[in-house]
Amino acid sequence: MNADTPRREDLQLGREIVGRINELAAISEDPARLTRLFLTAEHRAAAELILDWMRQAGMSAHMDPIGNVRGRYEGERDGLPALMLGSHYDTVVDAGKWDGPLGLITAISGVADLHRLGLKLPFAIEVVGFADEEGVRFASTLLGSRAVAGTFDESVLSVRDRAGISLREAVKAFGLDPGQIAKAARVRGDLLGYLELHIEQGPVLEQENLPVGVVTAIAGATRLAARLTGMAGHAGTVPMQLRRDALAGAAECIHVIEELCRADASGLVGTVGYIHASPGATNVIPGEAAFTIDMRAPSDIHRERAVTGIVHRIEEIASRRQLGLQIDVTHENRTAPCAPWLRAQIAEAIAAEGFRAFDLPSGAGHDGMAMIDVADVGMIFVRCRGGVSHHPDEHVELADADAGARVLLRLVENFRPQTGAQ
Ligand SMILES: [Zn+2]
Repeated sequence: MNADTPRREDLQLGREIVGRINELAAISEDPARLTRLFLTAEHRAAAELILDWMRQAGMSAHMDPIGNVRGRYEGERDGLPALMLGSHYDTVVDAGKWDGPLGLITAISGVADLHRLGLKLPFAIEVVGFADEEGVRFASTLLGSRAVAGTFDESVLSVRDRAGISLREAVKAFGLDPGQIAKAARVRGDLLGYLELHIEQGPVLEQENLPVGVVTAIAGATRLAARLTGMAGHAGTVPMQLRRDALAGAAECIHVIEELCRADASGLVGTVGYIHASPGATNVIPGEAAFTIDMRAPSDIHRERAVTGIVHRIEEIASRRQLGLQIDVTHENRTAPCAPWLRAQIAEAIAAEGFRAFDLPSGAGHDGMAMIDVADVGMIFVRCRGGVSHHPDEHVELADADAGARVLLRLVENFRPQTGAQ
């Protein structure tokens, strides 16, 4: 197949995708703002719509035991190993409509295009819509992709949502069997790779004036909780030299974290997103300050080194200011590097569509972090306005949605499985 054969009108793919993005966004528990959580009536309605699109695209389609939607488009003959494409269709609360659905809908529209032309490839294509990536309802992310990767942790079934309903109960109430979740899993030899197209959720492509980019790695993250303890006292009577102000100490720590990350050119980012001072009164010296630290980097070694460095500096600050310090790691995710051979094919497809192939890491987590346990992972980012996401202002231009779709389709049509991998 010569991918340069003109066969569709300008923006035809983009128009179909944007139309479906809007159709799916209408399925929300709150008509005024987009919220579509795991194992709810809206999840069900969205799944039915997506299954319908998959069947129209020539795929066999079903819902798996964790609530993912799964479609399969056979290759030149039935039963060939599959290239898997996908993204998620759950949302955060008061979400944007592109985060997740863009990748899923683009994959379906791409397959529909092949189907319209009666084109069969030397491999199968499987499209998966993950039911839970955001982890809003059960505070545990990537439940859908972990089930597909075969790493679903059964103990999570006992976790309860805010209404006190356990995941096990919710799966049953949804009409699925929690005892069958292991059946959602694929094994490595079945899959030629996992490719995901997703909005960037950051401002880098916009700054580079590019519609798409090649993801190098999904950055790992370390989260820490720190607590400084000093001495509360009267804001008027305790001289400055005699104070042990926990909040002033925390301020110095925050400054140091920012300074260290800013001085690093490798993509290291650090954020203090929460702070609480007590007793918390205008005329009282803060006796205690608690804050969180979120550290991410495109490589684990780099992140670990940075975390060690920051903890060391915080210890210094606490000791100099005579503050008590407790600091703990509360969460840790390893980096998921995108496979170099998939990155190379993505870059080729981007260049063939007339764009500069530009590499960037993903600071946000994605289903690829789970899928890497069962397949090599590649990701394409699509520019989104202002880098805004997890917000109703999230926006992708029609031309960019179309560019992303053309890149994905070209990539799939010219896809070469890694030699020797199967
Ligand atoms: Zn997402």
